[in-house]
Amino acid sequence: MVCVGCGDRTAMSAALARVAAGEPDPACLVCGGVLKSATVYFGQMLDEDVVEACTAAAADCDVFLAVGTSLQVWPAAGLADIAVGAGARLVVVNAEPTPYDDVADLVVREPIGTALPRLVSSDG
Ligand SMILES: [Zn+2]
Repeated sequence: MVCVGCGDRTAMSAALARVAAGEPDPACLVCGGVLKSATVYFGQMLDEDVVEACTAAAADCDVFLAVGTSLQVWPAAGLADIAVGAGARLVVVNAEPTPYDDVADLVVREPIGTALPRLVSSDG
């Protein structure tokens, strides 16, 4: 599940347990916002072929660059999981902290315009 207010992610099973315990519409425990099924809600707006191609590329890459993303919205955030799970190194380039900073091999906070050319250059 993902909160549409703050982006906090929780397990579907936790929300379902709260429903079973009597909460008809469990709100985000962090901010009180609306919880949505992240995978279905966001996935339905994307082209399935594109998502499949991205998933395959993430599973097959040596280095995964996450540039200019909070990595809090699925399925984009899930691609980082897939890449790391498949053994890729993770590089995060973002002005603000992301949930993946702790597992990243490199975190870059400088502006994308200066960081990216250096990252992708052959003599970087
Ligand atoms: Zn929230």
